[in-house]
Amino acid sequence: MPAGVKAEVRAYQVYVNGEWIDSTSAKTFPVYDPSTEEVIARVPDCNAEDVNRAVAAARAAFDHGGWPQTTAQERGRILFRLADKIRQNAAMLAELECRNCGKPIVEAEFDINDVATCFEYYGGLATKILGYVNPVPDNAMSLTLKEPIGVAGQIIPWNYPLLMAAWKLAPALAAGCTCVLKPAEQTPLTALELAKWFSDVGLPPGVVNIVTGFGETSGAPIVQHPDVNKIAFTGSAAVGKIIVKQAADTVKRVTLELGGKSPNIFFADADFEAAIDGALFGVFINQGEVCSAGSRILVQRPIYKKFVDAMTAKANKIKLGAPLERETKMGPLVSKEQYDRVCSYLEIGKQEAKVATGGGRAKFDKGFYVQPTIFYDVDNSARIAQEEIFGPVASVIPFEDEKDAVKIANDSPYGLAAAVWTRDIFKAFRAVKALRAGIVWVNHMQPTYVEAPWGGYKQSGFGRELGPWGIEEYLETKQVHINLNEQPIGWY
Ligand code: NAP
Ligand code: MG
Repeated sequence: MPAGVKAEVRAYQVYVNGEWIDSTSAKTFPVYDPSTEEVIARVPDCNAEDVNRAVAAARAAFDHGGWPQTTAQERGRILFRLADKIRQNAAMLAELECRNCGKPIVEAEFDINDVATCFEYYGGLATKILGYVNPVPDNAMSLTLKEPIGVAGQIIPWNYPLLMAAWKLAPALAAGCTCVLKPAEQTPLTALELAKWFSDVGLPPGVVNIVTGFGETSGAPIVQHPDVNKIAFTGSAAVGKIIVKQAADTVKRVTLELGGKSPNIFFADADFEAAIDGALFGVFINQGEVCSAGSRILVQRPIYKKFVDAMTAKANKIKLGAPLERETKMGPLVSKEQYDRVCSYLEIGKQEAKVATGGGRAKFDKGFYVQPTIFYDVDNSARIAQEEIFGPVASVIPFEDEKDAVKIANDSPYGLAAAVWTRDIFKAFRAVKALRAGIVWVNHMQPTYVEAPWGGYKQSGFGRELGPWGIEEYLETKQVHINLNEQPIGWY
């Protein structure tokens, strides 16, 4: 866009019961481009009444609309058609994602490809939901049937907006559930674009409903609604705890993906160049706004100093810039709120440890840019080692030996992910077994596949997304007993 020309401010509606509508209050709120701080769109500010409407539509689509009764083949075909639409429109979606959340365009393109792959994977899995025959000791046929849970409320964050929507919608739809999805207030646009294809690909009205709004006014009513059977949430631990408590009143099934403070462990025998790259990639990809960010970098003493120096030198070359420029490797943070939050941690870090590089705002006139920051000589008890910052901030911590590394790594309330770098396969496997985390990478950090499970230990949440594990979270298990004796029970 030429300089000085304002981006068009697009007005969106929400998608409920197969129709595009305003919120009942007619209120809207602005959506920003975090690199220019300009408003790029306005979306409906939905409230409890809007949520009631969306839940009623999802309930009706589940109870009377025939969605759970569609054949698995048909649900699979719909998901494949949706994936095709995403692939055909990948450039538009990547650009919008990039503009709305500030991530570099090249990363946004990866994300959109993953979005399509997720719908394709669950399109295929729809026909592989299997029951069992249970070997009971009586003259009977005992069966286990898998059935959709019902209406799923899905609440997602802003760091991977459309990918998080895909991780929630694809398994739910494959299972035969209906959905009410609430995107994060900062990044609702790509989910709304996706909804434009729902009817074309054959999703009946009410099967997926999208409400935009704020956590307290449009998220909480979904969690509290008695007609919602399950909540799938990704976001902060603080909100996750509120959700568990609120969901308890109606005994909803809940799955939580709550981020972490993941250790990235480097033994002295690791391939040094690969290690430096892996440390930077682990913590700075997506501006560090990643639930599994390798934000605690544990380095063995013999290579510690050389490691901090090499990491610093390479971090200083990371190209910050406009998200739409292809050379950009780091964009702005998603919002003013997140920028302030991260900056407050930079001040805390300066009290708690030494600064190798960064530590403040990056030099741009506009936009929520923060310098990639490396703190070193960090004690694992420091706040910058214990609390999730969700920005480009690394805490480097030295360790002595294997035992020490595992002890420090596990000394965290979180347990989402961990990585270990070594050329010694015995050491690697011992660490894999000792680390209390839902995902452990060896000689890499962050690769994520729809075929493999995703989720945390400890306060990183519970339940698993992706793979066959992801669809299980949207299924109930029904036991069926068929008596094959034709005689009375004969007890009384
Ligand atoms: P958040 O507050 O946990 O928000 C996540 C989602 O939950 C958003 O859609 C949010 O709505 C909604 N929400 C907020 N309060 C709610 C409530 N009482 N009931 C139901 N839904 C509610 O996260 P955030 O504000 O975006 O970011 C804050 C911190 O969370 C970050 O700094 C980071 O540490 C962490 N975080 C973690 C992840 C992750 O992947 N694990 C992702 C994003 C953020 P709004 O639209 O109003 O926010
Ligand atoms: Mg929030």
